[in-house]
Amino acid sequence: MPARNILVINCGSSSIKFALVHEDHEPFALSGIAERLGSTDAQVHWQQDGNKQSLLLPHADHRAALAQVLPLIQAAAGDQLQGIGHRVVHGGEHFTAACLLDNASIAAIRATATLAPLHNPANLLGIDAAIKLFPSLPQVAVFDTAFHQTLPEHAYRYALPEPLYREHGVRRYGFHGTSYRFVSQRAAEMTGLAFTASSWLVAHLGNGCSTCAIVDGQSRDTSMGLTPLEGVVMGTRSGDVDPNLHSHLARTLGWSLEQIETLLNKESGLLGLSGLSNDMRTLEQAREQGHTGATLAIEVFCYRLAKSLAAMSCALPQLDGLIFTGGIGENSALIRRKTVAHLKLLNLSLDDQANASTVRGAAGPIQAHGHPRVLVVPTNEERQIALDTLALLDA
Ligand code: ADP
Repeated sequence: MPARNILVINCGSSSIKFALVHEDHEPFALSGIAERLGSTDAQVHWQQDGNKQSLLLPHADHRAALAQVLPLIQAAAGDQLQGIGHRVVHGGEHFTAACLLDNASIAAIRATATLAPLHNPANLLGIDAAIKLFPSLPQVAVFDTAFHQTLPEHAYRYALPEPLYREHGVRRYGFHGTSYRFVSQRAAEMTGLAFTASSWLVAHLGNGCSTCAIVDGQSRDTSMGLTPLEGVVMGTRSGDVDPNLHSHLARTLGWSLEQIETLLNKESGLLGLSGLSNDMRTLEQAREQGHTGATLAIEVFCYRLAKSLAAMSCALPQLDGLIFTGGIGENSALIRRKTVAHLKLLNLSLDDQANASTVRGAAGPIQAHGHPRVLVVPTNEERQIALDTLALLDA
């Protein structure tokens, strides 16, 4: 059987990230992003065999942008495109695994949009465009929340009156599940442990950040909740704040719900604390130059992250390793060092040289000799989505 290719699509409200994933080769045959869709300066950037190209597509919507890259994708796949895998952020309690897209599953994703009004409608735009452009290809949805459907009830319930859960789905769901599955399987492979008989703490640190406790191949707790706002400090999201902050801001400053939502999701986190940037590279450079806001943002980020990991350790019977992943987790030796320094009670300690050199896509252990394992494992959500898509096609 010729090797198979899956197109992976991750759609935002004004962007589409795409990657052509080959089942046997790690590097993407083709990958890119269409951004600022719907505006005059909409454009698509892609790379193939190390060559980068861009094209302006004024006023292109999701479908027009996908139609533009379609011939490139088909050529790169050598007419061996077997299916399309879509990232969908929220699957609610309905989806405990990836599913084939048909009218019923699309209706269920639409019904879940009340839980993720910023994300699921955008994901559906990509699904709709792809089905119209590739009507004969099987298409699959892979959910960020699905991996966390194994959380025990004591981890997923909020201390709120039960009808809010039973009638309105107010509970903790968790996100980044595709990444957690990928890196914890990789960690088990790297260490020779069985995935289904190993226990991991994981910190996924990208623009969004969260932590997870994984036991015997299942998520047992995670820091994000009903929405991706709960938990640790992120690029522009606050993470945990006192829930009364909402009423405090409304009462004392007269702020609307929309203003408070924008504050907590788009103006807080590293950006809000530093007053400078949501980008960790920028903050590390500014800290070097003595910028007080950047220094504080990094201190708060690491302390809150360590606190969250310590909390997650309650869900583990033993610790086989702490995994760092995501752009910050894979590249920032500083953040890893400062976070682990707060976790002495877990006996964690890093080897400075291994920590400094395990960056830019390198994977491996970075703990000091005689201390519990700490691993850097680059995530690859696109690959996991492609593997899930192929598994469903084979089923
Ligand atoms: P996304 O969640 O959008 O996929 P990424 O996983 O790419 O995001 O992570 C983006 C974050 O990773 C940014 O804060 C960026 O500054 C950070 N990052 C990337 N490279 C480095 C680096 N060398 N040092 C520190 N932070 C880095």
